[in-house]
Amino acid sequence: MSALDTLTAPPVGGPTLAQERRLVTAIPGPRSEELLARKSAAVAAGVGHTVPIHAVAAGGGVVVDADGNSLIDLGSGIAVTTVGNAHPKIVEAVQAQVAQFTHTCFMISPYESYVEVAEALNRVTPGDHEKKTALFNSGAEAVENAIKVARKYTQRQAVVAFDHAYHGRTNLTMALTAKAMPYKSGFGPFASEIYRVPASYPYRDGLSGPDAAKKAISLIEKQIGADNLAAVIIEPIQGEGGFIVPADGFLPAVADWCRANGVVFIADEVQTGFARTGAMFASELFGVVPDLVTTAKGIAGGLPLAAVTGRAEIMDASHTGGLGGTYGGNPIACAAAVAAIDVFEGENLAARAVEVGRMLADRLTAMQQGDPRIGDIRGRGAMMAAEFVDPATGEPDAALTGAVAKACIAQGVIVLTCGTYGNVIRFLPPLSIPDALLAEALDVVADALAAA
Ligand SMILES: *Cc1c(COP(=O)(O)O)cnc(C)c1O
Repeated sequence: MSALDTLTAPPVGGPTLAQERRLVTAIPGPRSEELLARKSAAVAAGVGHTVPIHAVAAGGGVVVDADGNSLIDLGSGIAVTTVGNAHPKIVEAVQAQVAQFTHTCFMISPYESYVEVAEALNRVTPGDHEKKTALFNSGAEAVENAIKVARKYTQRQAVVAFDHAYHGRTNLTMALTAKAMPYKSGFGPFASEIYRVPASYPYRDGLSGPDAAKKAISLIEKQIGADNLAAVIIEPIQGEGGFIVPADGFLPAVADWCRANGVVFIADEVQTGFARTGAMFASELFGVVPDLVTTAKGIAGGLPLAAVTGRAEIMDASHTGGLGGTYGGNPIACAAAVAAIDVFEGENLAARAVEVGRMLADRLTAMQQGDPRIGDIRGRGAMMAAEFVDPATGEPDAALTGAVAKACIAQGVIVLTCGTYGNVIRFLPPLSIPDALLAEALDVVADALAAA
C-alpha cells in the first residue's frame, strides 16, 4: 500500500487490518512529520508523545500511521485496548448507542447501560460482599472519588500512598503520585493530608512481603496514627512506577492492618484491571479483597470511562448529589463497557493474558541469559517489564532504556518505558495480538538491545 492510498482511503481498523509490521517510510514519514509540525504549533507543549507518528487505524496487534507504516503495538495506548483496538463488538455497541442518544447526564435522566455497567462491576470485582459503583471519566477522577468516599465514610482525613505510586495528574492525584518529573514538577501546591510510605520492591529493597509491610505500617502508626487515617491506596502491581510486583504477603498484611484499624483499603486497578494480569483483577493474584477498587483504562475498549466499586456501606456514605459529574458514565462509553466486559468474560481474555505473559516472560528471560544489563524481569500476565541496570553497579540505566525503546520504535515496534528511575521497558500488548506478531516484535526488541 502506498502512502497516497492510505491518505485517500484510510484502512478500516479492527482485527481486519493486515496483521504485519510494515515500514514504507522512515519513522516518522513525511505525512506524520507534517502532522507533528501542526501538533507542535497547535497543541500545548506539555502534552508530549512517545511515538513520532500520527495514527489513522489500529486493530489486532498493529497501529497504522498516516504514511502507511504498520507498527506492532506493545503498549495498547497504555493498557487501554486490552480487547483490541476497534473490537467489532465495541464498534457495534457504540454505533448503536450513538444513533440512539449521545447524552442525557445520568444525574438528570438515568439510563440502563450505566446501571448495567454498575451491576457488572459489582459482580466481577473481587469479593462477594454487597457492592455499589459510581462511574466517572478518567482514572484520576475515579481515584479522587474513592478518596472522597473513604473520607466521608470514616470521617477521617489522612490518606497513605506509596513510593513509586502513580494515581493521576489532577491536584489530589498528583499529591498521591510519587514521581516529580514529569508529573508534578512546578504544579504545586498539592493537596494536604497525603502521606507516603515505602512500598515493597523486592528487586531493590530485598525485603520479604511481611517485613516490607511491617516497615510501612510502623511508619503509618508512628507518623500519622490509625485514628486519623481514612484510606490506604495502592496499585496491586505498580504501573508507571516500574511494573513493581510486591513480595508475597505484602498486600494481605497491609489489607489486614487496614481492616483491623477501620481504614479503607483502596486498590487502584486502573492499569492492572480487566484481565491484563491474567486475572480479572490483580488483587485476586495476591489474595486480597479491597474495600474499594478504582478502574478505568481497559474498561471500555478505548472509550473514556472509569469507576469506583466497593462495599455498599462505604459507597453509600455520601449524601445524595455528593458524587457525579456531567459526563460520568456517558451512554456511549457505557455501551462500550458492557460490550467489553462481555468480551473479557466470553473470550476468556484472562487466560489469553496468561498465554501472552508466558511468551513475554520466556523471551525476556532468554534475552537476560548472558546479558547482565537486564537486572530484573517481572510482571504478571500481559503486564511484563524488564528493568535495565549498569551491570557493574546495579544502578538504573535510563539512557540504555531510552535508546532501546527508541530503536524499537524506529523499527516499527511500539514500546513504552516507565519506572521511577526511567529504566524499565514495559510490555502491554493488546490481547488480540497474533502470536507470530508478538514473537516478531520481541525479535526487534532483542536486536535493539544487542545493538545498544
Ligand atoms: C493511568 C492511571 C491512573 C490515571 O488514569 P487517567 O485515566 O489517566 O486519569 C490512575 N492510576 C493508575 C494506576 C494508572 O495507571
